[in-house]
Amino acid sequence: ATPTALLVGTGRGAQLGILITGPEVLESTRRVDTVVLDKTGTVTTGRMELAGVTATDGDTAALLRLAGAVEDASEHPIAQAIARAAGKAGPLPAVESFQSTPGQGVVGTVEGHAVLVGTERLLAAWSQHPSPALLTTAADAARSGRTAVFVAVDGEVRGVLTVADGVKPTSGEAIARLRGLGLDPVLLTGDREEVARQVAAEVGIDRVVAGVLPADKVAVIRQLQDDGRIVAMVGDGVNDAAALAQADLGIAMGTGADAAIQASDITLVRGDLRGAADAIRLSRATLGTIK
Ligand code: ADP
Ligand code: MG
Repeated sequence: ATPTALLVGTGRGAQLGILITGPEVLESTRRVDTVVLDKTGTVTTGRMELAGVTATDGDTAALLRLAGAVEDASEHPIAQAIARAAGKAGPLPAVESFQSTPGQGVVGTVEGHAVLVGTERLLAAWSQHPSPALLTTAADAARSGRTAVFVAVDGEVRGVLTVADGVKPTSGEAIARLRGLGLDPVLLTGDREEVARQVAAEVGIDRVVAGVLPADKVAVIRQLQDDGRIVAMVGDGVNDAAALAQADLGIAMGTGADAAIQASDITLVRGDLRGAADAIRLSRATLGTIK
């Protein structure tokens, strides 16, 4: 394509709310055959709300207060939902010796109690194990598309918090458009398989890679590339940055973290997933005549 055609292409993109880092990006965009989509904040709104609290001793308010105090120190959407809900009952106590494990959860000391909020994997790392009843509560939530996190206090698993996050209204249409362009969508998440399956079913995705730790997202992209795929990755989180950089084409949500935007070739200004399909259509239209 002539430099003029490329400039027109990138200019047209800007009008559509698609920021392209440079004209050469259009070439990799055109060749993409697989689109890996981060779940939380990309396919879903990422605006989580607390949906349920289960406490083994029945004192849900006390459990939520301790969990909220630790989560108040975390930026994660799950953490913010929990801290926000807990804060409605009154000011949250201070947290000491806070520690966050990406893709797993948080631990901290609140009013002299050791409080952990996170996945079964994080519990296991601290040699803690939920009761069968709590495991059932978490599995039931997951099947209805809700994310469940466990709360342990002083070495005992004391309950489950569930958070809900809806799919963006435009995600289903975006996936249909991507498929219409001949692309194969894959949902990638650190969340558990059942939650991912529920979200995937809502938007029309068949292929799910779940339970992936942030550091391993990049390996999923590499594996697809080793299989001969030309891969676009769409993400919004700090955790997605390495995978966005590894992908043949990185697409960041403009509503997401700066690290994700900086690692990407394209930014969808409004965070509307349909922009991913627009970008690919545009690059094909711009470069369609050259081989
Ligand atoms: P995603 O890939 O969907 O963006 P993450 O990799 O950020 O998800 O997190 C994976 C899982 O780790 C979450 O579903 C949750 O169970 C757990 N987790 C991560 N951060 C926190 C936190 N601050 N509090 C509780 N649980 C967390
Ligand atoms: Mg995300």
